[in-house]
Amino acid sequence: MRILLVEDERKLSGIIKRSLKEVNYAVDLADNGDEALFIAESHPYDLIILDIMLPGKDGITVCRNLRKNKNDTPILMLTARDDEEDKITGLDSGADDYITKPFSYPEFLARVRALLRRKSTGKSSRLKLADLELDQLTRKAYRAGKEIDLTPKEYSLLEYLMNNVGEVITRTMISEHVWDGDFEAFSNVINVYVNYLKKKIDHGHTKQLIHSLRGVGYILKDE
Ligand code: CA
Repeated sequence: MRILLVEDERKLSGIIKRSLKEVNYAVDLADNGDEALFIAESHPYDLIILDIMLPGKDGITVCRNLRKNKNDTPILMLTARDDEEDKITGLDSGADDYITKPFSYPEFLARVRALLRRKSTGKSSRLKLADLELDQLTRKAYRAGKEIDLTPKEYSLLEYLMNNVGEVITRTMISEHVWDGDFEAFSNVINVYVNYLKKKIDHGHTKQLIHSLRGVGYILKDE
Protein backbone atom coordinates (compact mmCIF):
# COMPACT_ATOMS: atom_id res chain seq x y z
CA MET A 1 0.00 0.00 0.00
CA ARG A 2 1.50 3.31 -1.05
CA ILE A 3 0.50 6.52 0.69
CA LEU A 4 1.08 10.17 -0.18
CA LEU A 5 1.45 12.34 2.91
CA VAL A 6 0.95 16.08 2.40
CA GLU A 7 2.03 18.08 5.43
CA ASP A 8 4.30 21.14 5.65
CA GLU A 9 5.25 20.87 9.32
CA ARG A 10 8.49 18.91 9.09
CA LYS A 11 8.45 17.54 12.59
CA LEU A 12 4.89 16.30 12.37
CA SER A 13 5.29 14.84 8.88
CA GLY A 14 8.38 12.99 10.10
CA ILE A 15 6.47 11.44 12.98
CA ILE A 16 3.48 10.50 10.82
CA LYS A 17 5.73 9.02 8.14
CA ARG A 18 7.58 6.94 10.70
CA SER A 19 4.36 5.64 12.26
CA LEU A 20 3.10 4.58 8.82
CA LYS A 21 6.38 2.97 7.81
CA GLU A 22 6.47 1.02 11.07
CA VAL A 23 3.35 -0.81 9.97
CA ASN A 24 4.89 -1.22 6.55
CA TYR A 25 3.11 1.24 4.33
CA ALA A 26 5.20 2.87 1.62
CA VAL A 27 5.10 6.65 2.16
CA ASP A 28 5.96 9.60 -0.09
CA LEU A 29 5.99 13.17 1.19
CA ALA A 30 4.87 16.49 -0.27
CA ASP A 31 5.08 19.73 1.72
CA ASN A 32 2.90 22.08 -0.35
CA GLY A 33 -0.31 21.95 -2.37
CA ASP A 34 1.18 22.30 -5.84
CA GLU A 35 3.74 19.57 -5.25
CA ALA A 36 0.96 17.36 -3.83
CA LEU A 37 -1.14 17.78 -6.98
CA PHE A 38 1.82 17.05 -9.22
CA ILE A 39 2.90 13.92 -7.33
CA ALA A 40 -0.68 12.63 -6.91
CA GLU A 41 -1.17 12.79 -10.68
CA SER A 42 2.12 11.10 -11.48
CA HIS A 43 1.81 8.00 -9.25
CA PRO A 44 -1.12 5.71 -8.46
CA TYR A 45 -1.56 6.07 -4.68
CA ASP A 46 -3.75 3.94 -2.44
CA LEU A 47 -4.40 6.79 0.01
CA ILE A 48 -3.66 10.50 0.34
CA ILE A 49 -3.29 12.07 3.78
CA LEU A 50 -3.86 15.76 3.28
CA ASP A 51 -3.31 18.63 5.68
CA ILE A 52 -5.65 21.61 5.20
CA MET A 53 -3.24 24.42 6.11
CA LEU A 54 -0.53 24.31 3.46
CA PRO A 55 1.64 26.88 1.70
CA GLY A 56 0.47 27.56 -1.87
CA LYS A 57 -2.78 25.73 -2.59
CA ASP A 58 -4.49 24.64 0.64
CA GLY A 59 -5.73 21.11 1.27
CA ILE A 60 -9.33 21.92 0.36
CA THR A 61 -8.26 23.28 -3.05
CA VAL A 62 -5.97 20.30 -3.64
CA CYS A 63 -8.82 17.93 -2.80
CA ARG A 64 -11.25 19.74 -5.12
CA ASN A 65 -8.69 19.67 -7.95
CA LEU A 66 -8.01 15.97 -7.53
CA ARG A 67 -11.71 15.11 -7.65
CA LYS A 68 -12.24 17.43 -10.62
CA ASN A 69 -9.48 15.51 -12.42
CA LYS A 70 -11.33 12.23 -11.69
CA ASN A 71 -8.76 11.10 -9.14
CA ASP A 72 -10.75 8.91 -6.73
CA THR A 73 -7.92 7.94 -4.35
CA PRO A 74 -9.27 7.92 -0.77
CA ILE A 75 -8.36 11.13 1.07
CA LEU A 76 -7.91 11.50 4.82
CA MET A 77 -7.84 15.17 5.83
CA LEU A 78 -5.90 16.57 8.75
CA THR A 79 -7.63 19.54 10.35
CA ALA A 80 -5.70 21.80 12.69
CA ARG A 81 -8.37 22.53 15.23
CA ASP A 82 -11.76 21.23 16.09
CA ASP A 83 -13.31 23.52 13.54
CA GLU A 84 -16.72 22.30 12.38
CA GLU A 85 -16.53 24.52 9.30
CA ASP A 86 -13.22 22.95 8.19
CA LYS A 87 -14.59 19.43 8.54
CA ILE A 88 -17.71 20.17 6.54
CA THR A 89 -15.79 22.02 3.83
CA GLY A 90 -13.28 19.16 3.75
CA LEU A 91 -15.90 16.47 3.30
CA ASP A 92 -17.82 18.59 0.79
CA SER A 93 -14.66 19.03 -1.26
CA GLY A 94 -14.43 15.26 -1.70
CA ALA A 95 -12.43 13.99 1.28
CA ASP A 96 -13.45 10.57 2.64
CA ASP A 97 -12.62 11.16 6.29
CA TYR A 98 -10.86 13.63 8.57
CA ILE A 99 -8.96 13.58 11.82
CA THR A 100 -8.29 16.55 14.10
CA LYS A 101 -4.76 17.42 15.22
CA PRO A 102 -3.41 16.51 17.69
CA PHE A 103 -4.56 12.92 17.25
CA SER A 104 -3.68 9.59 18.80
CA TYR A 105 -1.68 7.31 16.52
CA PRO A 106 -3.75 4.18 17.17
CA GLU A 107 -6.86 6.09 16.06
CA PHE A 108 -5.04 7.60 13.10
CA LEU A 109 -3.80 4.18 11.94
CA ALA A 110 -7.27 2.70 12.38
CA ARG A 111 -8.70 5.38 10.08
CA VAL A 112 -5.95 4.73 7.55
CA ARG A 113 -6.72 0.99 7.60
CA ALA A 114 -10.45 1.64 7.24
CA LEU A 115 -9.96 3.82 4.17
CA LEU A 116 -7.54 1.38 2.54
CA ARG A 117 -9.98 -1.46 3.20
CA ARG A 118 -12.85 0.43 1.69
CA LYS A 119 -10.75 1.03 -1.40
CA SER A 120 -9.43 -2.49 -1.83
CA THR A 121 -12.50 -4.60 -1.23
CA GLY A 122 -15.55 -2.38 -1.06
CA LYS A 123 -16.82 -4.09 2.09
CA SER A 124 -15.12 -7.24 3.25
CA SER A 125 -11.80 -7.30 5.07
CA ARG A 126 -11.11 -10.85 3.88
CA LEU A 127 -9.55 -11.56 0.50
CA LYS A 128 -9.85 -15.05 -0.93
CA LEU A 129 -8.36 -17.02 -3.81
CA ALA A 130 -8.92 -20.78 -3.92
CA ASP A 131 -7.88 -21.96 -0.42
CA LEU A 132 -5.66 -18.92 0.17
CA GLU A 133 -7.16 -16.35 2.52
CA LEU A 134 -5.98 -12.98 3.74
CA ASP A 135 -7.48 -11.19 6.72
CA GLN A 136 -6.80 -7.48 6.34
CA LEU A 137 -7.93 -6.71 9.87
CA THR A 138 -5.45 -9.00 11.60
CA ARG A 139 -2.94 -8.92 8.69
CA LYS A 140 -2.74 -12.71 8.68
CA ALA A 141 -2.72 -15.17 5.79
CA TYR A 142 -4.02 -18.75 5.63
CA ARG A 143 -3.60 -21.54 3.12
CA ALA A 144 -5.99 -24.48 3.42
CA GLY A 145 -6.98 -23.12 6.84
CA LYS A 146 -3.40 -23.11 8.16
CA GLU A 147 -1.80 -19.82 9.14
CA ILE A 148 1.21 -18.79 7.07
CA ASP A 149 3.96 -16.98 8.92
CA LEU A 150 4.72 -13.84 6.89
CA THR A 151 7.03 -10.89 7.49
CA PRO A 152 5.31 -7.48 7.23
CA LYS A 153 6.87 -6.92 3.78
CA GLU A 154 5.73 -10.33 2.53
CA TYR A 155 2.25 -9.59 3.85
CA SER A 156 2.14 -6.24 1.99
CA LEU A 157 3.30 -7.93 -1.19
CA LEU A 158 0.69 -10.69 -0.89
CA GLU A 159 -2.04 -8.16 -0.11
CA TYR A 160 -1.15 -6.22 -3.24
CA LEU A 161 -1.21 -9.40 -5.37
CA MET A 162 -4.56 -10.46 -3.86
CA ASN A 163 -6.06 -7.09 -4.65
CA ASN A 164 -5.11 -7.68 -8.28
CA VAL A 165 -5.94 -11.36 -8.83
CA GLY A 166 -5.67 -12.47 -12.45
CA GLU A 167 -3.82 -9.35 -13.53
CA VAL A 168 -0.26 -9.21 -14.78
CA ILE A 169 1.80 -7.42 -12.12
CA THR A 170 5.08 -5.92 -13.25
CA ARG A 171 8.05 -5.30 -10.97
CA THR A 172 7.52 -1.57 -11.46
CA MET A 173 3.95 -1.89 -10.15
CA ILE A 174 5.21 -3.80 -7.12
CA SER A 175 7.96 -1.26 -6.45
CA GLU A 176 5.41 1.57 -6.67
CA HIS A 177 2.78 0.02 -4.41
CA VAL A 178 4.71 -2.05 -1.93
CA TRP A 179 7.91 -0.07 -1.61
CA ASP A 180 8.12 3.73 -1.66
CA GLY A 181 9.87 6.47 -3.61
CA ASP A 182 13.18 5.93 -1.80
CA PHE A 183 13.36 2.39 -3.09
CA GLU A 184 15.41 1.67 -6.18
CA ALA A 185 13.43 -0.91 -8.08
CA PHE A 186 16.19 -3.49 -8.35
CA SER A 187 14.24 -6.32 -9.86
CA ASN A 188 16.32 -8.92 -8.03
CA VAL A 189 15.13 -7.60 -4.65
CA ILE A 190 11.53 -8.04 -5.78
CA ASN A 191 12.38 -11.46 -7.26
CA VAL A 192 13.83 -12.53 -3.93
CA TYR A 193 10.71 -11.39 -2.04
CA VAL A 194 8.32 -13.03 -4.50
CA ASN A 195 10.32 -16.25 -4.24
CA TYR A 196 10.13 -16.18 -0.43
CA LEU A 197 6.40 -15.66 -0.72
CA LYS A 198 6.01 -18.41 -3.32
CA LYS A 199 7.80 -20.84 -1.03
CA LYS A 200 5.52 -19.98 1.88
CA ILE A 201 2.28 -19.92 -0.11
CA ASP A 202 2.72 -22.65 -2.70
CA HIS A 203 5.31 -25.06 -1.30
CA GLY A 204 3.76 -28.44 -0.54
CA HIS A 205 0.51 -27.63 -2.37
CA THR A 206 -0.35 -29.20 -5.71
CA LYS A 207 -2.04 -26.07 -6.95
CA GLN A 208 0.37 -23.16 -7.57
CA LEU A 209 -1.15 -19.69 -7.13
CA ILE A 210 1.81 -17.35 -7.72
CA HIS A 211 3.12 -17.61 -11.27
CA SER A 212 6.18 -15.91 -12.75
CA LEU A 213 5.96 -14.53 -16.26
CA ARG A 214 9.50 -14.45 -17.59
CA GLY A 215 10.67 -10.93 -18.38
CA VAL A 216 7.25 -9.45 -17.49
CA GLY A 217 6.41 -9.96 -13.84
CA TYR A 218 3.95 -12.08 -11.91
CA ILE A 219 0.35 -13.14 -11.82
CA LEU A 220 -1.69 -14.52 -8.94
CA LYS A 221 -4.33 -16.88 -10.22
CA ASP A 222 -6.19 -20.08 -9.49
CA GLU A 223 -5.52 -22.68 -12.16
CA1 CA B 1 0.09 22.52 7.88
